[in-house]
Amino acid sequence: MRIINLSDRSLETGWQSQLQNAIRDPKDLAETLCIDVEAIDSEFPLLVPEPFLNRMEVGNPRDPLLLQVLPVAAELLDRVGYSKDPVSEQSKDGIRGLIQKYRGRALIVATGTCAVNCRYCFRRHYPYHLARLSQEDWRALFRHLKQDSSISEVILSGGDPLMLNDRTLASVFESLNQIPQIKTIRVHTRLPVVIPSRVTKELLSMVETSQKKVVFVTHINHPNELDEALTFSLQTLRTGGATLLNQSVLLREVNDQADTLAELSRKLFAASVLPYYLHLLDPVQGAGHFNVEELRGKALINKISSELPGYLVPKLAREVAGAPAKKVLIG
Ligand SMILES: *Cc1c(COP(=O)(O)O)cnc(C)c1O
Ligand code: SF4
Repeated sequence: MRIINLSDRSLETGWQSQLQNAIRDPKDLAETLCIDVEAIDSEFPLLVPEPFLNRMEVGNPRDPLLLQVLPVAAELLDRVGYSKDPVSEQSKDGIRGLIQKYRGRALIVATGTCAVNCRYCFRRHYPYHLARLSQEDWRALFRHLKQDSSISEVILSGGDPLMLNDRTLASVFESLNQIPQIKTIRVHTRLPVVIPSRVTKELLSMVETSQKKVVFVTHINHPNELDEALTFSLQTLRTGGATLLNQSVLLREVNDQADTLAELSRKLFAASVLPYYLHLLDPVQGAGHFNVEELRGKALINKISSELPGYLVPKLAREVAGAPAKKVLIG
């Protein structure tokens, strides 16, 4: 076990400047990776921080990490069955910033932004510029959570909730800590994956001092994403007392091979993370070229089940609008 030393991460400036300096121009990306790219202009533009870029292979235009972030012409094809809001979130009204689809759990859309723009994202058309929560929105949200005794778990999601600065995040934890029926605070994030230094001393301290169970659900799709810095950050959160789970999206050419998925599970476990969901792609406009058929998804799960302990096999799942839970698909 390594000795944890976060002294070089005492201030937030580290991850925030990584974010400011993120690559936004496909030409810069091409230059760094020594490849020719045929990027397109998109309303959902290229955004990739350097620590993630550094894990891509120079000279490889089909790199599995590159494919996840590069806007390409295939996105412009209109496909039957693909919509802008595939899981019907945008029609929900009620408390601003809150989505209550499943029993016992309430999801907070804590921010509209992310540190990386993933091409396959089902929220790529979400009107996030409208999603920013004001102080008054937060207060109304906490008032609602206090009154609803059915909620035992609050999920911070987005966008990416770790885009909030540590001060804001600490006050959210503080408010949730004061609500007795809430037992678990869950954070759905990809930010530490693309910028490992997002796991700051302050964030670790929120985990360590929380009166609730804290769960992080990371979003890692390919074993190459798990470099040493990310592994260290994850182990730090684990040592601080958090439960760590991972969800992936099954993506054509990125992770649709049994060997890739098996290696991902092993590397996650080495980083103290258990695989949770493997999602089939949501049919969002612009992402059709990533789709992997359900039958192939099941075959892949069967294949890795024969090689891995049960606890390293993620649940293959699909989101079905209006259903009481995510639909788990079995072999
Ligand atoms: C996915 C999701 C959850 C969490 O579902 P789990 O199966 O508990 O991981 C909760 N609320 C919403 C709106 C979701 O989309
Ligand atoms: S980090 Fe998550 S929410 Fe943000 S673009 Fe990627 S998949 Fe979508």
